[in-house]
Amino acid sequence: MKKGRLIVMTGPSGVGKGTLVRSLLNCHPDLHLSISVTTRSPRPGEINGQDYYFVDRHRFQEMVEQGELLEWAEFAGNCYGTPLIPVKEHIEAGTSVLLEIELEGARQIRRTFPSALRIFIMPPSIDELERRLRGRGQDSEDAIRRRLMRAKAEMDAANEFDFEVINDDLDFALQRLESVLYTPV
Ligand code: ADP
Ligand code: 5GP
Repeated sequence: MKKGRLIVMTGPSGVGKGTLVRSLLNCHPDLHLSISVTTRSPRPGEINGQDYYFVDRHRFQEMVEQGELLEWAEFAGNCYGTPLIPVKEHIEAGTSVLLEIELEGARQIRRTFPSALRIFIMPPSIDELERRLRGRGQDSEDAIRRRLMRAKAEMDAANEFDFEVINDDLDFALQRLESVLYTPV
């Protein structure tokens, strides 16, 4: 059977990755979104096992030591990682798996899973990114500041990726993502 593909989507926090992924999954039930583990506290409305698996630092460390994570990184004071087994199982079963992860994790995937398709989602500008982070209204001032500081370093690394998609107009960005994912190579 043909294996599924590993697809990595990276881009600064607030650029719209979650929004794009939700739209993609609605239109393409053939894709599986990997659910990450994090030590971050749930935002209002976030559900354990659906948005993330929320764990404490001790459990996260245990998962790292036991080799249970495909990649992991620290971001804005919290740890995030991708559980390995569900990714492996879906890919073996022929389903493509989408990872929505930050830059350090994407770099690890490049080394450990070189056949992964890696896409960078770029904001139209830093000012617009800040507007989106504030408009989302779910992060503290300190969290927004840390995310914006990290954003600049992430955007500088966009050329490490296979494709760059600018999320200016949402529908246009979605079309471009679909063409990247579904145009035969
Ligand atoms: P991320 O997952 O990258 O952190 P989100 O998907 O949570 O980002 O989006 C951050 C905010 O930006 C949300 O309020 C979302 O509605 C808004 N947003 C996403 N894409 C666009 C777009 N193309 N134009 C304007 N606002 C957008
Ligand atoms: P947030 O706290 O806004 O949900 O996520 C913060 C950042 O962590 C985002 O850039 C998101 O893509 C990234 N992230 C989420 N899950 C993972 C993961 O499993 N691994 C890594 N490396 N980054 C992740």
